[in-house]
Amino acid sequence: MGKELHIETKCLHSGWKPKKGEPRMMPIYQSTTFKYDTSEEMGRLFDLKDEGYFYTRLQNPTNDMVAEKITDLEGGVAGVLTSSGQAANFYAVFNICEAGDHVICASAIYGGTLNLLGVTAKKMGIECTFIDADAPAEELEKAFQPNTKAVFSETISNPALVVLDIEKMAKLAHEHGVPLIVDNTFATPVNCKPFEWGADIVTHSTTKYMDGHAMQVGGAIIDSGKFDWDAYGEKFHGLTRPDESYHGIVYTEHFGKSAYIAKINAQLMRDLGSIPSPMNCFLLNASLESLPLRVERHCYNAQKVAEFLDAHELVGHVNYAGLPNDKYHELAKKYMPNGTCGVISFELKAGREAAVKFMDSLKLASIVTHVADAKTSVLHPASHTHRQLNDEQLKAAGISPGLIRLSVGIENVEDIIDDLAQALEESKTL
Ligand SMILES: *Cc1c(COP(=O)(O)O)cnc(C)c1O
Repeated sequence: MGKELHIETKCLHSGWKPKKGEPRMMPIYQSTTFKYDTSEEMGRLFDLKDEGYFYTRLQNPTNDMVAEKITDLEGGVAGVLTSSGQAANFYAVFNICEAGDHVICASAIYGGTLNLLGVTAKKMGIECTFIDADAPAEELEKAFQPNTKAVFSETISNPALVVLDIEKMAKLAHEHGVPLIVDNTFATPVNCKPFEWGADIVTHSTTKYMDGHAMQVGGAIIDSGKFDWDAYGEKFHGLTRPDESYHGIVYTEHFGKSAYIAKINAQLMRDLGSIPSPMNCFLLNASLESLPLRVERHCYNAQKVAEFLDAHELVGHVNYAGLPNDKYHELAKKYMPNGTCGVISFELKAGREAAVKFMDSLKLASIVTHVADAKTSVLHPASHTHRQLNDEQLKAAGISPGLIRLSVGIENVEDIIDDLAQALEESKTL
């Protein structure tokens, strides 16, 4: 087929392609190892002279087929799956950074990533400067240092719902000779393909919409193949100079455009080993088949729910880029014309106590530490994720005591709105 397939079709047909007599569904290679006939054959695999599987910590056929599917969805050249979204973001950065290096990261970002780059990476000697990604380019320039190796951001940030100006950030990164890494978890490739706007590497917590059924934790890293590592050979010496821990291989020479992912497999997976289980990849693959349908419904429902909340007398500010008065509406229209995601945050005017009463009165929406599930879920940051903070500290973190994070599911939207309406009514009776 000459013509590029649409994403709905890729979600079903990319990755595993059965030939005559082979299983319709992708097989699970639930095996740690793979058999060879001669010692020489096995030796050639270790030298990376032949291609083949030998140990699942390095690579597994089931995992690779699902990585291939997600790579195809993003329009990349190579990809790898990890055991969690955290592992994906860690590897994406650590693959090109070492002690003495520096990264730039948007400050409105997932809490886990904030800790990873702000606290744990620092212990490894990697410094991070957090920036307000909304600031003009002239302002952001100042964050770059001679040892800066990457810029990191999220397409739609969790939980602040900030939409990234991908083109602006990619241009800035490229002017300073570093790649832009974008965590595309909330938008998914169904709503946004960051590579089309200049991003170089995309990461995912597949735990969220890609899995979508609260079944398994996982991550993915996809390379666009567009960043020219050799143009900055000294800066990215891990990719462009001999790797003494791997028989002096030069990744860019040996693997060309898939050098970045090849290095993750050969080096980081070998030494750190955050691989997903083939069983989890099988489940992820099945979920991916319905991703476009689910994302469309999540967005349709979230838009209706956001409009309902926005018009409600007990509700203060509603954050959702689909609302015309939202700060990120214009950016969302440019980068995600078909919708953003199913996550909304909103504020109960009556504050903390009313928010707790509201949560406890919900009958359909479940209280869980999770987002992007097919089932509507809800969290009260002041009582849960940010529980240790007092009201003053909450304010500094941009979270008001009455703020609710709502992940709108794919139920019938009337049932979701009815549930919210009755719980809002209950919240008056403190
Ligand atoms: C959840 C999440 C992560 C972390 O992923 P895990 O799979 O929970 O490790 C990273 N980034 C974003 C945007 C997330 O929502």
